[in-house]
Amino acid sequence: MGNKVATILGVPFSTRGFQETVSDLVNRMEAGQLTHVVTANPEIVMIAQEKPAFRKLLDQAYVVPDGIGIVYAAKWTNQPITERITGVELLEAMMEQADARGWKVYLLGASPEANRLAAERLQERYPRARIVGRRDGYFRPEEEREIVKEIGRLRPDLLFVALGAPRQEEWIAAHQEELGIPLMMGVGGSFDVIAGLVKRAPMIWQRLHLEWLYRLLQQPSRWRRQLAIPLFVWTVWREKWRA
Ligand code: UDP
Repeated sequence: MGNKVATILGVPFSTRGFQETVSDLVNRMEAGQLTHVVTANPEIVMIAQEKPAFRKLLDQAYVVPDGIGIVYAAKWTNQPITERITGVELLEAMMEQADARGWKVYLLGASPEANRLAAERLQERYPRARIVGRRDGYFRPEEEREIVKEIGRLRPDLLFVALGAPRQEEWIAAHQEELGIPLMMGVGGSFDVIAGLVKRAPMIWQRLHLEWLYRLLQQPSRWRRQLAIPLFVWTVWREKWRA
């Protein structure tokens, strides 16, 4: 990530804004640097607190601030993170680059329907990007080898992995070397959103920094996972008082 790094509870975050991130990623791809992008929210930072192997993985990755909690945490610790970089938006921005440059793209993950619809929508919106392959995220463990081989054979420039966090990040890290794909990125529920099966919070909720609440109301079963948010806030303040 170069020298533009903020550290939140031991996790290194890029401090670049959205546009600067896109240009930096394109530059890295053109320089032949393999990059694993993680859009990290408070939940991911809290997983890193408990799982040293996952924290190590994040040290090797290009971590961008997803979740308003990360932006606030940076503010409370006087670090220069100015805006959220969400998975959906970064995916779309990279597809725009793929459209301009004729890059090859592979989409792994989400339900068969979401995967298919997302591929169709993206192909309509970015006609010169080449979606060379796709596969839903509900494969059996014994099918994984075949999938990895297939992706390797297709040699995409971009691989988006929608298996949910932290599984998608662990999947990418486990296969990064073998696949040698210039840019791999975990995108969580982005295919569901692009497919039109899940709605993102309306702009006004996003502006009020309440997208997390909207998600919770839409999918109440997430409450247990979202307990990570208050725990994250508490831990950041505790560390600040201690310092
Ligand atoms: N998913 C998948 N295989 C699985 C479990 C989940 O492909 O075995 C997909 C799921 O369909 C969804 C995405 O992974 O599209 C996870 O979405 P979620 O909103 O939970 O993302 P997160 O909040 O983890 O970023």
